[in-house]
Amino acid sequence: MLELKNIKKSYKTGDFEQHALKGVSLVFDNNEFVSILGASGSGKTTLLNIIGGLDRYDSGDLIINNKSTKKFDDILWDAYRNNCVGFIFQSYNLIGHLSVLENVEMSLTLSGVTAKDKKERALKSLERVGLKEHAYKKPNQLSGGQMQRVAIARAIVNDPKVILADEPTGALDTKTSIQVMDLIKEISKEKLVIMVTHNSELANKYATRIIELKDGEVIKDTKPIEPGTNKNEIKIKKTKMSFWTALKLSFNNIKTKKGRTFLTAFASSIGIIGISIILSLSNGFDKQIDKYEKNTFSSFPITISKSSMQMSESQMEDLMGAVMPGEGDYPEDKVVFPFDLSSYNLLHTNNLNNDYIEYVEGLDDTLISGISYTRATGLNLLVKYDDSVKSVSTSDLSMGVIPKELDTEDFMDEAFDLLEGQLPTEVTDLVLVVDNKNRVDTKILKTLGVSYDEDKIDFSEIIGKEIKLVFNNDYYTSFRGMYIPNIDYEEMYESENNLTLKIVGIVRAKENNYLGQIATSVNSLTNMTDAKSMMSTTNIGNILYRNDLVEKVISVNSSSDIVEAQEKLDVNIMTGEVLNEEDKHNMMVYLGSEDDPYLISIYPKDFASKDIIIEYLDKYNEGKDDEDKIVYNDLASAFVTFGSKIMDAITIVLIAFSAVSLIVSSIMIGIITYISVLERTKEIGILRSLGARKKDISRVFNAETLIVGILSGLIGVIIARLLVFPINIILEDLTGLKNVAILNPWHALLLIVISTLLTLIGGSIPARMASKKDPVIALRTE
Ligand code: ADP
Ligand code: MG
Repeated sequence: MLELKNIKKSYKTGDFEQHALKGVSLVFDNNEFVSILGASGSGKTTLLNIIGGLDRYDSGDLIINNKSTKKFDDILWDAYRNNCVGFIFQSYNLIGHLSVLENVEMSLTLSGVTAKDKKERALKSLERVGLKEHAYKKPNQLSGGQMQRVAIARAIVNDPKVILADEPTGALDTKTSIQVMDLIKEISKEKLVIMVTHNSELANKYATRIIELKDGEVIKDTKPIEPGTNKNEIKIKKTKMSFWTALKLSFNNIKTKKGRTFLTAFASSIGIIGISIILSLSNGFDKQIDKYEKNTFSSFPITISKSSMQMSESQMEDLMGAVMPGEGDYPEDKVVFPFDLSSYNLLHTNNLNNDYIEYVEGLDDTLISGISYTRATGLNLLVKYDDSVKSVSTSDLSMGVIPKELDTEDFMDEAFDLLEGQLPTEVTDLVLVVDNKNRVDTKILKTLGVSYDEDKIDFSEIIGKEIKLVFNNDYYTSFRGMYIPNIDYEEMYESENNLTLKIVGIVRAKENNYLGQIATSVNSLTNMTDAKSMMSTTNIGNILYRNDLVEKVISVNSSSDIVEAQEKLDVNIMTGEVLNEEDKHNMMVYLGSEDDPYLISIYPKDFASKDIIIEYLDKYNEGKDDEDKIVYNDLASAFVTFGSKIMDAITIVLIAFSAVSLIVSSIMIGIITYISVLERTKEIGILRSLGARKKDISRVFNAETLIVGILSGLIGVIIARLLVFPINIILEDLTGLKNVAILNPWHALLLIVISTLLTLIGGSIPARMASKKDPVIALRTE
């Protein structure tokens, strides 16, 4: 059944070559009890290891099944060890963290026997060695003799044809030695037993054949067999350890060092904690920003201006460079480069004609809070003071238009709190907007003729204040073919043609609703004719009129004498100044000939509506030439993208920092796994002797890092989740914002996966090292 042909084996240590076996030829039959005798160092163990496939011969051949093993690959050797031979060692070599039963089961586990079958066979085997009732003990709870009997049970459990025992009684007293020898003798009735011993007394008593070795050579064989005489078959079944087994094995091992495992997992979880918290915060801030944006920016209008700036990024940079020169390649040559600035074509003119306005009005009402049309039409206004009537300007009054219809009252309701009086219902109704401290610019008060000698003015003094709106035919008189403003204000004031505008209400922009603020700001911008009026953009007081007021003015003034006269002239009808085409157009608009707005502001209901509105506006441009396109500005998205970009950048930087600690922890895991490999070297040897493949060994350690990785991910995520509570309390204290930090469950899951992957990577090198360990050397370690 087994045949050794001139087997040679030597070990090299440095320059020294030790010839452990110098050409051994032996034939073994089944049911033999062979005892190998010899002095220490004579090569007994080496011979046994070669027969058992634990060690490789240098030359010669080992014939199994009448087949040469010269071409055996690792997998075949592993399978051969697993189910053709059973090893019994002097030092028992049981795996300490597994129970007696699990130790016995191991070779079955490695060959993939089902759990039930495995247990049954292992218990039967234990029963045979008389230790059935000790099945659930740990090896260190047994005596030496008992441990060796467990080892015997393990050796026979897979029913191998060959049992190899290396000084099985070497560590036992005489009494227990006899028990163990009786057991081996019993087994040898059905198997080939090859037992190494230096106790010739035992050999003589039990063995059926004695072979003696000396300095690596056979010097005696009491019952030599002729080569090629026996034909008994040994069947080799391939082995396979399931990952589940590896996991269980590592889990058991980890249980024996709970403290260390926990500390390792905790240390390597710190990176995960960091990243989790950063993600929670950035997540939460994003949500806060989002909420804030929805409040703030959703009320920012989309504006469509008659002429709008259009610049590519490179043009922008180019022009910024010209304004704020930085480092650059300044030309050395004494030359000037002509540059056609107009080629940049910076201004795009939007044709805001009736077609377009109709298109805009076609927007779904439910999407918008309001649309305002800002027109450059001049309003001829008169105010009566105690002693006189004076002409006043819209900018003196910080006048602005209320976004149009849909329903004027709706917009006002949404944007403002009514403090006094009523909201405008008539075309001539005005409202005064006060700021958050009820302040109103003194310029407005002065213009309205409200006396402010005292430091406060009762609402009632303002409600009911009147302003006369005079139409062109009354306001201008012809004079030598030109027109000039009438200066008899008292007479004009009394004319029946006038409209009497009246302040009917006092309002204030709603708290936490920026619609009112913004609507008035946009209005103020339209009054920005000089530096002084720029101040009015601070919104300290405004007077708002209805959109239909301007429409009415235009409907009357468009057919006024001055408009008709101006139309025929190429000079300014009032000053005689020569006008180019554009200036003339502006003049006509000012006088009220046209109702094309120069600014359309669309106030979306919310962020979602804005997207739909923009889509709608884009659709208008589809298939149009560039110059016919209508360009709009969406200030809010500019802010929003800017805000979220900054948040993203900060998050990335912080995560990069934490990622460093993740890498550190994966190195740490590598080191710890390496230590574990060193500690478990003996176990590696045992597993290999039982037929574990190299792959199975690396699996055992990968399973260990997997457990540590998952554990550290879990610990990290749980700690981070718990830290979210105090963090939120601190943030609420600092900012008043509630529940800012939120750990997204998907992020948590992802981080556990990342932690697991990183530790697996960190542990993979030591795991590979473990799998490459020579089983013989591994078994020799203590
Ligand atoms: P025995 O079991 O008979 O005491 P061994 O088979 O263990 O002897 O050893 C035979 C010889 O080979 C001894 O001289 C031993 O030192 C040497 N030897 C065994 N294994 C190794 C090894 N891995 N490296 C170097 N020398 C070894
Ligand atoms: Mg030995």
